[in-house]
Amino acid sequence: MTEDAVIEARHFIGGEWIAGEPIFTSQSVRDGSVLCQAPVADAAVVDRAVAAGRYAFEHSGWKERRAADRASVLLEMGRRLDAAAEDISRLVAVEMGKPYRLTLEREVRGAADKFRYYAGAARSVEGQVTGASPAHILDITVPQPVGVCALIIPWNDPVDLAVRKIGAALAVGCTVIIKPSEETPASTEALVRLFDGIPDLPPGVVNLVHGPGDLTGQALVAHPGVDKISFTGSTETGRAIMRAASDSLKRLSLECGGKAPCLVFEDCYLEKALDALSYGAFLYGGQSCTAATRIIVQAPIYDEFLAGLTKRAKAMPVGDPLEHGTLIGPLVSERQVERVRSFLDRVADEGGTIVTGGQISGLYVTPTIITDLSPTSTIATQEIFGPVVCLFSATDEDDAVAIANGVRYGLGASVWTADVSRALRVSRRIAAGDVWINTHYIRQAETPFGGWKESGLGRELGLAGLQEYIAYQRVAFDTASRFHLKAWFDDEG
Ligand code: NAD
Repeated sequence: MTEDAVIEARHFIGGEWIAGEPIFTSQSVRDGSVLCQAPVADAAVVDRAVAAGRYAFEHSGWKERRAADRASVLLEMGRRLDAAAEDISRLVAVEMGKPYRLTLEREVRGAADKFRYYAGAARSVEGQVTGASPAHILDITVPQPVGVCALIIPWNDPVDLAVRKIGAALAVGCTVIIKPSEETPASTEALVRLFDGIPDLPPGVVNLVHGPGDLTGQALVAHPGVDKISFTGSTETGRAIMRAASDSLKRLSLECGGKAPCLVFEDCYLEKALDALSYGAFLYGGQSCTAATRIIVQAPIYDEFLAGLTKRAKAMPVGDPLEHGTLIGPLVSERQVERVRSFLDRVADEGGTIVTGGQISGLYVTPTIITDLSPTSTIATQEIFGPVVCLFSATDEDDAVAIANGVRYGLGASVWTADVSRALRVSRRIAAGDVWINTHYIRQAETPFGGWKESGLGRELGLAGLQEYIAYQRVAFDTASRFHLKAWFDDEG
């Protein structure tokens, strides 16, 4: 990938790359130059993509194949993504600002591994035979693919968040239409381009349409030919999608926002907690749905913790996402910087103090620590999606848990203590889908991920993630010689 050549993105429909007009652009976060020009899919283009997905679902034989054959396509994608990992990671770093090293090791190689996981998981899908029916009835529950799935992707992990959905959908025999974020069309398209030319992948099984949420996204959500929407993005958009999808009662998975609490108790391994939570708060410029955004520290160690976190925040290498030593790159866009600025502007009004950070220059925001806020303030309860963390002091477990659960989100959380009983007790009281004990940011393809409360519906990854793309069908064979209801009346009469 060269930075001076503008990438000409295309829709991918029925196995063909299709140009179109009008176009929109994404920019390099490094110098603001145009990185990619992508066509906008209107309702007619979306209709074409849905028709291609439907045709492939009904007629290509994809869903009727052995799982092992679908798995071989996913394994090939794992190989292709590994081979392209360095180029794609550079592209992601330049298009959305995440440091190259983190993108390569965590996002892109992690995504290749997820293809391999789904290849194995595809072969584990099972139905059931009930033993509860009378002996003349064979009563089976058959796993079926749900159908044509629209996969709506955000910009913050433009490769990995797509693979979580694509891998699960293809594993069980669905067909997909992927809609990248309008901020990162090139990154997600680079992934989808790897499907092109895979032997044994019928055209129309994988499709891609570009465009903004309020046109292309809405057209997908409203389309009667789409059976399921899997969305990752903000809670506000998730809510709008749920409303729009209700007209046709589509199946939904919604992975939405977060405001992760981290409960730090006085008996914790302090140095480890400080190291982990400075990374947890500021890596990816805080543009992660499970970023450590609210750190709740037991009162006796509050001052020591604040001093340690401040020291680490000031030392975090902020810089060019392609530089080897950079831990924090620029934010994705001016829009995102303005969002962060709007929260920082309110700090004094809400009674808060910026202990360190708060400087904005271009797309860069320095790691920011805020104290003295009420846990119910706007800054402490709304998702900012920038390198901003709020610190609170808590007297005891009850106090810490009340602060932790006092927001509408429930996605990630971490608990810091050397006491195993406390760790389990507290983790079970936290309303969140993903709780880490004495660590932050551990994720595996094998374990389910998803939100509680307004952080979402459904799960991704693990076998629970596969279930989201399966519709169970009950099939009952009656081997008796008489119809049971007639026999019932005849015998009574
Ligand atoms: P966003 O909600 O603005 O957009 C996400 C996607 O939805 C984009 O592709 C966008 O074009 C599309 N979209 C927007 N409006 C739509 C509509 N009305 N109908 C259909 N599609 C529409 O989110 P974003 O700014 O791209 O991403 C950041 C958000 O994603 C944060 O809130 C973050 O917490 C969340 N996120 C959640 C998870 C998770 O797994 N829970 C993971 C990563 C990011």
